[in-house]
Amino acid sequence: MRARIHESNVAVVNHPLVGASLAILRSKTTTSADFRRALQEVSVLLLGHASSAWETVPHRVETPLKECVAEILARPLVLVPILRAGLGMLDGMLALLPRAAIGHIGVYRDEKTLRPVTYFCRLPPTIREAQVVLVDPMLATGNSACEAVALLKNHGATRIQFICLVTCPPGIEQLRSQHPDIDIITAAIDPELNEMGYIVPGLGDAGDRYFGTG
Ligand code: URA
Repeated sequence: MRARIHESNVAVVNHPLVGASLAILRSKTTTSADFRRALQEVSVLLLGHASSAWETVPHRVETPLKECVAEILARPLVLVPILRAGLGMLDGMLALLPRAAIGHIGVYRDEKTLRPVTYFCRLPPTIREAQVVLVDPMLATGNSACEAVALLKNHGATRIQFICLVTCPPGIEQLRSQHPDIDIITAAIDPELNEMGYIVPGLGDAGDRYFGTG
């Protein structure tokens, strides 16, 4: 899968299926049902790109004909959606990684200050040695992502990737300045944030559109 490396730690996944799903997600006429399906499809594709960087180790297996060496994942996997919109990316990813453990981080954005407020954090015990994939469809101000990454690091996580659907320069800058070690995988970098902290053109409120609460 091709990716344009925007800056050292940001990969924009450039694939026709990603583009097609993103077009559905951006359209204001897309129903919640179609939004859900497209978000799950694009999440699998983004995860496919992210996983190409995961460590593997050699592993002996016996085929019906002969023993050979195969490559298996070196680390347990932990998927961590940032509640609530991140949940929309989880189902698709679990289809690809049914054995992954799942953590949850609940961070909401205070509507006035746009600052993150953590209200929930539950992470599996494998977090220290795991390859951790933090997911949220929108990397907007970057405040929630920074808070979530700090929580993961406080719990001992050392290998963290952040997968989002759409981001923008201020969000990338914020995450990079506080956590330069985190790789960001996205389908698009949009030009700007508006005064409400929404990405423009973006796709609106991802959580509301996924859950039908808009
Ligand atoms: N969260 C969203 O759901 N959409 C945005 O554009 C920004 C934050």
